[in-house]
Amino acid sequence: TKEDVKNYLFRNAFVLLTVTAVIVGTILGFTLRPYRMSYREVKYFSFPGELLMRMLQMLVLPLIISSLVTGMAALDSKASGKMGMRAVVYYMTTTIIAVVIGIIIVIIIHPGKGTKENMHREGKIVRVTAADAFLDLIRNMFPPNLVEACFKQFKTNYEKRSFKVPVQANETLVGAVINNVSEAMETLTRITEEMVPVPGSVNGVNALGLVVFSMCFGFVIGNMKEQGQALREFFDSLNEAIMRLVAVIMWYAPVGILFLIAGKIVEMEDMGVIGGQLAMYTVTVIVGLLIHAVIVLPLLYFLVTRKNPWVFIGGLLQALVTALGTSSSSATLPITFKCLEENNGVDKRVTRFVLPVGATINMDGTALYEALAAIFIAQVNNFELNFGQIITISITATAASIGAAGIPQAGLVTMVIVLTSVGLPTDDITLIIAVDWFLDRLRTTTNVLGDSLGAGIVEHLSRHELKNRDVEMGNSVIEE
Ligand code: ASP
Repeated sequence: TKEDVKNYLFRNAFVLLTVTAVIVGTILGFTLRPYRMSYREVKYFSFPGELLMRMLQMLVLPLIISSLVTGMAALDSKASGKMGMRAVVYYMTTTIIAVVIGIIIVIIIHPGKGTKENMHREGKIVRVTAADAFLDLIRNMFPPNLVEACFKQFKTNYEKRSFKVPVQANETLVGAVINNVSEAMETLTRITEEMVPVPGSVNGVNALGLVVFSMCFGFVIGNMKEQGQALREFFDSLNEAIMRLVAVIMWYAPVGILFLIAGKIVEMEDMGVIGGQLAMYTVTVIVGLLIHAVIVLPLLYFLVTRKNPWVFIGGLLQALVTALGTSSSSATLPITFKCLEENNGVDKRVTRFVLPVGATINMDGTALYEALAAIFIAQVNNFELNFGQIITISITATAASIGAAGIPQAGLVTMVIVLTSVGLPTDDITLIIAVDWFLDRLRTTTNVLGDSLGAGIVEHLSRHELKNRDVEMGNSVIEE
């Protein structure tokens, strides 16, 4: 009946609007491309998209803190320990699978031909040692000053920066707020400034440090009985308030996404500069990401939960499109929360606990890409990798994906660690910059998908603990 159609449309309004936004954005972008807008015009044009990025980033910090604190506090230590273990096992397994897929695909397709002659280069890059980067990663788990961890800003030299449109003018405009390994990244970005123009608006928030602190803090107040009551209630209502703000931003998101996508299409460089090898490399990355996102992850979800993964993924559509539009899994986090809790009905104790951690450390797409790109660079250098070196690449690619911030093109910067570990020339990162803005969007989408399916899997595995806890707390238990 008419009523049914109306109800259906209203319930699926977000999905419809989001899909429309992508389609209209793409068409608009290609329509406006021939007009060759100036840098300033592109900036004005993408402004609604920039606003979306800023709104989302605005919520990320209080969201990470309040959800982790309440998530931890809502579980007893046994349940949180078990859930934490399951999440970590899931993160490690899927990341390793992703790395293996990346390695196999790049070896089979073999996009690099042992020649760099016809390849286009952009920017330059300086070396950094992998050991320093690792130590910085650990160091950042323990920020000495919590306030500073929230406010730390990169110093960026505006004059020195060149605005190269194909590199990432879009990200240059919108900037990014969250950076989970602020110091490692700061060192790396400083030295790679020429390569990836660092937006002046990147406020290096040490999300990793805040995640560690919030988990410990939530754990402690969860065990404090009456004394912890006030704090538990405070963070609970803070979290609720932030989620209501997210609900408001959700309505603006399609507009923002439309302009983010259209703006990027308008400013991207002509495909002419992309030579054969780079085109093959791009295809290889896409194939790898597709295998992981469309086959491996859904299959894993199905095997564990025995539920239809596509229904679950359908509920995530807006988060996935936001990831595609923003290239940032951190900025997407608020939307990921909404989709999982509202569309897919995932238990809040699970999302609050696993999503902030997942968005910070679990990046399957980035891991796959890091390993694949490193081997591609070996191929164009005619550099024979032995088995040991391939293992080294898998390990460092995993670490680099953990260390990468959920911000645009962070993975390109942490590539340095992977390349140095086997003695490949870090300068050759410049060979793949031209297509990175695009691949970044796809790997960010894969990252968000991995985090979300992970939440579904962890919820399923933890259903008994959750139910016991409900009984204990006297909550009404809904039988499956
Ligand atoms: N942009 C990615 C993300 O936010 C990280 C990367 O560069 O791989 O998940």
